Amino acid sequence: MASHKLLLLPGDGIGPEVIAEVKRLIDWLNAQGIARFETEQELVGGAAYDASKQSITDATMAKAQAADAVIFGSVGGPKWDGVAYEARPEAGLLRLRKELGLFANLRPAVCYPALADASSLKREAVEGLDIMIVRELTGGVYFGEPKTITDLGNGQKRAIDTQVYDTYEIERIARVAFDLARKRRNKLTSMEKRNVMKSGVLWNEVVTQVHGREYKDVELEHQLADSGGMNLVKWPKQFDVIVTDNLFGDMLSDIAAMLTGSLGMLPSASLGEVDVKTRQRKALYEPVHGSAPDIAGKGLANPIAMVASFGMALRYSFDMGELADKLDAAIAAVLASGLRTADIKSDGDTAVSTTRMGAAILKELQKLHA
Ligand code: NAD
Repeated sequence: MASHKLLLLPGDGIGPEVIAEVKRLIDWLNAQGIARFETEQELVGGAAYDASKQSITDATMAKAQAADAVIFGSVGGPKWDGVAYEARPEAGLLRLRKELGLFANLRPAVCYPALADASSLKREAVEGLDIMIVRELTGGVYFGEPKTITDLGNGQKRAIDTQVYDTYEIERIARVAFDLARKRRNKLTSMEKRNVMKSGVLWNEVVTQVHGREYKDVELEHQLADSGGMNLVKWPKQFDVIVTDNLFGDMLSDIAAMLTGSLGMLPSASLGEVDVKTRQRKALYEPVHGSAPDIAGKGLANPIAMVASFGMALRYSFDMGELADKLDAAIAAVLASGLRTADIKSDGDTAVSTTRMGAAILKELQKLHA
């Protein structure tokens, strides 16, 4: 059996608490001989800053480069608010994304039936929802140059951000999205603003070309990002995979996230290019939530976002789709049994701790695997 190298970066706040629940799963998978994971653990974010005055060291970066996947908790917290900009906790995550070339951010929005009433939408609109937002992560207006604020000398200032995309950037994110659609319900919706933005015109053109050349079997539709946003909250089940740029993806994935209830439920994956030699992608898996300083150290964190992020690693880095399906089913079964952490409980429910939830998920997985 092939062995896989995982770099665990728990980070700050609730990061170490939720990563401990992934470690519990890894230990069991290894002990049962279901998989062989070699794990190393390092510091990132504020914890790394406290130890080395850097939010991630070169040595940790080298381990991330050498790993088959990075499993990341969360970084940040008020303790490091005064730290210099380049050493702030979030800089460690940005460096990882940049140097690993993680251009594709995958954010599933899945509504577990047991939690459908926690959504701000009606149960019938979200029950059984399972969509995937693919956001371009390393280009577009967040990175384009020039990016300046200029004093015009007449009491006015001018701020410039540049939205820029090259063909290759659109092609590679489109391929990630088409490939995902093929493994799901075979439908891709591309969103941009071609009516007012040149980058939208090129985005639309390139996605259409990639479809015509390589993915004719997948159903492709285009929506303007603003009406796409409306459709997401009107009838989200019309979508399977959505692909969009960095800026629109940032907003649309947050909207989709909230359809499903709590931040504590949302996993994500960030993927890089396929290496021609190894056929592997660089990859980082992390929950969408932050370090939740308000509940850190109290055993209150919901570990499901982190555990489901590990499930994405099984699916997208290690081709263990069946095991990932079982892990998702274990999470659904635990929720269906009524177990809730504080963030997803309704009035009258008793909340369980992070470790109790993690242990219950493992127990369900053991049953499904028996
Ligand atoms: P947050 O996601 O940490 O918390 C927002 C709210 O959601 C809080 O009330 C928190 O208690 C709750 N919450 C979050 N995750 C939860 C979980 N797993 N279980 C139960 N409740 C959960 O966002 P914030 O408060 O805006 O940011 C706190 C810190 O995290 C800041 O320093 C911020 O910069 C950082 N942050 C880091 C990341 C990251 O590491 N990728 C992402 C977002 C924010």
